[in-house]
Amino acid sequence: MSRYLISFLFCCLLHNTTKAQVFNSFYGNVVNQSSFDSVQQNLLDFESLGIKEPGTAALTNTLIWLKNKYQQFGYTDIVIDTFDFIGNEAYNLIVTKPGTTYPNTFVVVDGHYDTKTGTGTNDNGSGTSIILETARLLKNIDTDYSIKFIHFSLEEVGLVGSYHFVNNIAFPNGMDIRVLLNIDEVGGDITKTNNTIVCERDESNPTAANAASHAFTDTLDTCVQLYSNLFTEISYAYGSDYMPFQAKDYVITGFFEKNETPHRHQATDSIAYVDIPYVYEITKATIGSTMYFAVARDSANSINEWDENNFSIYPNPTSEHLKIVLKQKNEVIKKIEITNQLGEKIFVKDNINFTSETINTKPFKTGMYYLMIESNEKISIQKFIKK
Ligand SMILES: [Zn+2]
Repeated sequence: MSRYLISFLFCCLLHNTTKAQVFNSFYGNVVNQSSFDSVQQNLLDFESLGIKEPGTAALTNTLIWLKNKYQQFGYTDIVIDTFDFIGNEAYNLIVTKPGTTYPNTFVVVDGHYDTKTGTGTNDNGSGTSIILETARLLKNIDTDYSIKFIHFSLEEVGLVGSYHFVNNIAFPNGMDIRVLLNIDEVGGDITKTNNTIVCERDESNPTAANAASHAFTDTLDTCVQLYSNLFTEISYAYGSDYMPFQAKDYVITGFFEKNETPHRHQATDSIAYVDIPYVYEITKATIGSTMYFAVARDSANSINEWDENNFSIYPNPTSEHLKIVLKQKNEVIKKIEITNQLGEKIFVKDNINFTSETINTKPFKTGMYYLMIESNEKISIQKFIKK
């Protein structure tokens, strides 16, 4: 991944400091089962596989290594997606974990495993290691949505693997992707203090999915704060495997290191320059975020966040007013927030205690909005349209 330094101004302006969700102790327990040693070992193994350029044995051996890892974790739905690149076969690895409620809607967690010039231990051994550890821990956790862990090949020669997947598999088949979390080059710069991760969102044309990308990226930002010790910064998505999805209006978000390594695409991109504790913190953030996006459930407990079915709103589309009614009789609404397509909060009502509410939507501009309600037990989000 390469990137130019961008202005923080726009990001800071829209940066959302209000937590749209609260710490979930079940998610926290799973996050705490992640292993520093596993992440470190993944990085070492990735490095030892060599320089993973098109047509090399190292690239194929890395695919085999990844496939073996998923088999060890107990995954069975493992697909090798083969494509051609200038006379060489290349391979994406796609591993699917079925969801219990929405099996045909996917949360995608992806990163590339090919490298340029060096072994790519940061770019992108870091993302690869994080995805593996996330998949290891989520194997036996129930999620409402299905999860696809995708390791793309040939990102470094022009996002070739991800373009192939989007244009030949996902888009033609109408694959329903709730959100895609791309993880690329998150090893940091060992000579600096690495305490901040950049959360990336869609700020490009086409724009139909930008508002949803902003909302999910706000959620990602909050999950980082809830499940790791890192600070966050919001920026725009650029130059990695989420862009072919972006081009087709899929909802994307991503992680990228704040301190950019000077070793990218060099023979020196090795573990000696990777901040392993930083990669471990991003692993924790990824596990928490993936559980949140896929709506993980503790089978022994009914706590549920982001449940669209928790309340009903009508009329939708609305013109003059919107009525909110909770479906569970034992719940009360504590807080209501409405966010517009730019990610700006335009309505907040706090410290409340009732089972239904009517909001005057007359002053709202025409467009799509996100309504978040916090009840005594759950946090739920629904979209509505103002005519
Ligand atoms: Zn990369």
